[in-house]
Amino acid sequence: MLEKLRAAPTWRPTRPWKEWEAERDLLFHRFINEQLYPFSPFYRRLFDAHKIKPSSIRRIDDLRHLPFTAKQDIAPTPDHPARALDLVLHPTEEAIRHAAPRALATRFLLERLRFGAAALERRLHLEYAPVHVTYTTGRSALPTQFLFASGDFERLHVVGKRLIELCGAKVGDRALNVFPFAPHLAFWQTFAVGQAMTMLIVHTGGGKVMGTAGNIAALERLQPVILIGVPGYVYHLLRQAHEQHIKIPHLKIIALGAERVPPALKARLSALCARMGAAEVVVHGVYGFTEAREAWGECVPPDADTSYGYHTYPDFDVFEIVDPATGETVGPGQRGEIVYTNLAGRGSCVLRYRTGDIADGGIVYDPCPGCGRIVPRISSSISRRSDVGEFKLTKIRGTLVDLNAFVQLMPEVPEVVEWQLVVRKHNSDPDDLDELALSIALRPGADAHAVKEQIASRLLAAIEVVPNEIEVLPLAQLEANLGLDTQLKETRIRDLRDVAKNPAG
Ligand SMILES: [Zn+2]
Repeated sequence: MLEKLRAAPTWRPTRPWKEWEAERDLLFHRFINEQLYPFSPFYRRLFDAHKIKPSSIRRIDDLRHLPFTAKQDIAPTPDHPARALDLVLHPTEEAIRHAAPRALATRFLLERLRFGAAALERRLHLEYAPVHVTYTTGRSALPTQFLFASGDFERLHVVGKRLIELCGAKVGDRALNVFPFAPHLAFWQTFAVGQAMTMLIVHTGGGKVMGTAGNIAALERLQPVILIGVPGYVYHLLRQAHEQHIKIPHLKIIALGAERVPPALKARLSALCARMGAAEVVVHGVYGFTEAREAWGECVPPDADTSYGYHTYPDFDVFEIVDPATGETVGPGQRGEIVYTNLAGRGSCVLRYRTGDIADGGIVYDPCPGCGRIVPRISSSISRRSDVGEFKLTKIRGTLVDLNAFVQLMPEVPEVVEWQLVVRKHNSDPDDLDELALSIALRPGADAHAVKEQIASRLLAAIEVVPNEIEVLPLAQLEANLGLDTQLKETRIRDLRDVAKNPAG
């Protein structure tokens, strides 16, 4: 598979959307009837409970009549630690006999008659047996496992090539991957990129494994064309490397995943790279989540500051954008929650999975003005659930505050080098009011008083709230508080309210 993939030309679909639609309706109908309903214990139960006949689902438009799957429907609980395994497609004898469409059951029967039961079993094992797993990274929920069968792991390579080509990578480019070594999608998606692109990637494991000094040494020795990692850590790494006067003249592409990348951070990274000898660096966001078992690249033309959104794969998945309050599907280009459905795949498959992520510009289907590809494009402005864990919205002095605003706003203040927000209880009293304490580290020579005022007025204008305290800290101390070198992901926003409730824990 890899050999063919490596030799394949760049994926650049330009068929009219109408053709995609007809093809996808057929794929969808077959996937529901021949895979999801018969072989997924979770979805067979769900369909039966709602008295939904799988054969009645003919077109992707019919999705809107099906129930959503939410994180809490599949996350492990102390009583059911393996609950998510019910999502894994598993063609048992019973499932084939009682739930598969007659034509499919007959095909299995003929295969058994012709080649024998053992051969059929072996064939099904090769197709369906899990070979890989990645986990969600919930703060409060237990991690949920998502399994890959062989074909799914191959698909990780197919999409890896598509997404890195979209970012402008060429065969033979060298890359530095500073995502942590972990059973998380971001690391393995990057691993597959290297395999599919015939590209040398040095996987350092990030700050926790080699320390920032080790990562800087790797950056200097490898002189990569592409740098891949979590936004906060990549910024930290480049800043430290710049302080040591490291030059990186070959760098052209920065691909950032696992968190949202506000435009101000992109600009900041490009400017930093320019000072390090790389004048034409383009920063791309990569969107992905464990439940989809793949990721999508952002189309940013090299000569433009615009973004044409995340390019999705119409042959592998279906995206819907819904009103988060009503669950109703919204029109193209309209803001709403991203809902994901597998159109292909084995292993852990989902139908109408509610990501909790909000796309400001929704999804559009017209040809991309940047690259000409005709694929569904998700707007690059996504408020990610993972940005701030489960406390995206919090009530401060009676006002509901969207803490995502900090992620967007803080990189816009040029004097602020690093920042961290702490949500805590006043006087550490669990019954008292919530408070916001903002720590910042400043550029040398910055006027602390003026910067504090600037931040306060920007926040007031954007979210009508001013932090109870803005404290200036030495950069090294703030970096330690953020855990840039010690944690898998920096703690940009820290919630201490549970600590007040339960000081022992
Ligand atoms: Zn494009």
